[in-house]
Amino acid sequence: MVRHHRFHKRLAFFRQKDIDPSLVVLATKSVHQSVPLEIVEEAGDRGAGDFVVVFFDTLIPKATTSGLRLGHRIQVAPAAGTQTDPSRTVLETPPLAVATKLPLIVDAPFKSGSWLAANALSNNADHRRTIAVVNGASRIAQRYAIDFVKLDPHGRAYSGDPSRNENWVGYGEPILAVADAIVERVFDGLPDNQPLTPPSIRIGLDTIAGNHLVLVLPNGERVLYGHLKPGSIAVKKGEHVKRGDILAALGNSGQSDAPHLHIHIADGASALGANGLTFAFRTFRVAGYAPSLQILEKPEGWNGPAPSGRDVRENELPTDLAVIEF
Ligand SMILES: [Zn+2]
Repeated sequence: MVRHHRFHKRLAFFRQKDIDPSLVVLATKSVHQSVPLEIVEEAGDRGAGDFVVVFFDTLIPKATTSGLRLGHRIQVAPAAGTQTDPSRTVLETPPLAVATKLPLIVDAPFKSGSWLAANALSNNADHRRTIAVVNGASRIAQRYAIDFVKLDPHGRAYSGDPSRNENWVGYGEPILAVADAIVERVFDGLPDNQPLTPPSIRIGLDTIAGNHLVLVLPNGERVLYGHLKPGSIAVKKGEHVKRGDILAALGNSGQSDAPHLHIHIADGASALGANGLTFAFRTFRVAGYAPSLQILEKPEGWNGPAPSGRDVRENELPTDLAVIEF
């Protein structure tokens, strides 16, 4: 899994009693009226020059999104006992149009099998919170990224000695084109890491995704496949691929501590210097949800229900820790 260690301290929390009414209000009130959503600092005062990024989700019924604009009014409470000009404690952002474009629908990156969707869609997933400043612009390329880890029929990610890549169930798994596309970037030559240990190579913008491929779709969306097995890439730059074509094999290179596939779709080819775009898989089945990523390190794995394949989803993105079958 790709692990980040920057967000240990929770900076804010939502009061449920404030969130619930705001969700209802947003759907029915005029866009000119403000919606109260109180965010309370939990971690104490912020000093001059500090900044805080607040992530939250708001449900908006589809019928109300047309023409809807969303802005933020941020009020800062001065420290107790200090005098502050009230005009300097409130910030209002220009309202932005709410996007109505539907997610890009793509096919599965694997032929079959049971997969844990790690660091996937949720408010607090590491991918979503990895804001990177590249060439002067801050973006979240991995906003909708997923780290797929394969599980065997017993829910185990590995059997035997977990320090060997070959003992991980997904290692070497063929990785497929999720759409008809052109290969835009091929990057190979990095070694696989030893599982459950930090990468031995220097991690930078060029190496964070390990050996990787970028496909460009007809409308310019880029699909990034990261952490590929060294020497496994079966396509060349400029090559046209069809959905379902084998591109490479699952590996453990770059910023990776166990064999997995990192996949995301963004508006640019850079692993970090791009903005993540919404996408969804045409179809998959949900077996259940793992309690945490720790199940991957346990020899007994995930003791969830045997994948039954009954809960079929279409045109959705699996949420964090879902165990799914393609
Ligand atoms: Zn990842």
